[in-house]
Amino acid sequence: ATPMATMVGSTISAKNGVLYKGGDILEKARGIDVVVFDKTGTLTHGDMRLTDVVTVGETLETDGGEPSEARGSTSDRESDGGAPASEDTVPEPDGGVLEVDDEPALDEEFLLSVAASAESGSEHPLARAIVDGAAERGVGVEEPTAFENVPGHGIRATLSAGEVLVGNRKLMRDHGVDPAPIEATMAQLEREGKTAMAVALEGELLGVVANADTVRESAKETVSQLQARGYEVMVLTGDNERTGRAVGERLGIDPANVHAEVLPEDKADEIESIQADGSRAIMVGDGVNDAPALTSAHVGVAIGSGTDVAIESADVTLMRDDPADVLKAMRVADATISKVR
Ligand code: ADP
Ligand code: MG
Repeated sequence: ATPMATMVGSTISAKNGVLYKGGDILEKARGIDVVVFDKTGTLTHGDMRLTDVVTVGETLETDGGEPSEARGSTSDRESDGGAPASEDTVPEPDGGVLEVDDEPALDEEFLLSVAASAESGSEHPLARAIVDGAAERGVGVEEPTAFENVPGHGIRATLSAGEVLVGNRKLMRDHGVDPAPIEATMAQLEREGKTAMAVALEGELLGVVANADTVRESAKETVSQLQARGYEVMVLTGDNERTGRAVGERLGIDPANVHAEVLPEDKADEIESIQADGSRAIMVGDGVNDAPALTSAHVGVAIGSGTDVAIESADVTLMRDDPADVLKAMRVADATISKVR
């Protein structure tokens, strides 16, 4: 592209909230076959809310009949067996076991207090949601005396009550805790598109806490437009397989195209294997975790409100945090290139 044409492209797109790092990116944006989205914070808002607190003895009701009156035992289950609450949202965090105005049952309060105390050392959005959820419910929290992040799996912290684990099944197993007693609860929450986390104290399971997120309004339309234009659309997430698929399903993404439980350090490898057959990928992401994948992809696209590391690693930044602007960026690239050809 001539400098002039490139400048025209950049100006137009900057006005539309799409910022390109360099002119060559306009050329690179052609010949793309695959568009890969990070899930949390990219397809979803990333504004996690605590929705469920379920102690180990409790069972979730899976079907209608029982309204969630029975405080401390159910969530916002659907009467048709757990279908999505609506087309484009992950269930709203309104039916949790522990309503904000509920007085929590003792063991649930204890479970939430342990989880929130342990998570108070973490900056992770999942942790923030648990800490905020505890505060909203008036549940007391203590500072951990020791804290360790286990990337992609959860956290470990020391409280006055003992050592606490909050995280996925692998975190539990790796520390000698069998997650079997909470498997049904976790699976149910995950089918609802929620991120369920196990909580253990001194090697004993206390229960499960879950967070929900909302899908960005334009995500579904963007996915279907990309698909209609012949792009393969994929999701890359560190989250659980079931949660990833539940969100993918709401967006019309084939379960086979949802790559879940991808560790932060493996996201770039996933992109490389997607591109191994010569196809070219755009990766769209927001997190620190996504930065290496944004670099590995043919074109890296960062969400504007994402982390600085993601923006630095990307070729393009979507200033309005709107996944629909991916389409706009691709169109502007096309238009700019054809002008100089
Ligand atoms: P994502 O790609 O969705 O940002 P991460 O790689 O950060 O996911 O985390 C993957 C999984 O590890 C989460 O879905 C969760 O189960 C667990 N996890 C990570 N951080 C935490 C945390 N602070 N507390 C509890 N669980 C966590
Ligand atoms: Mg993310």
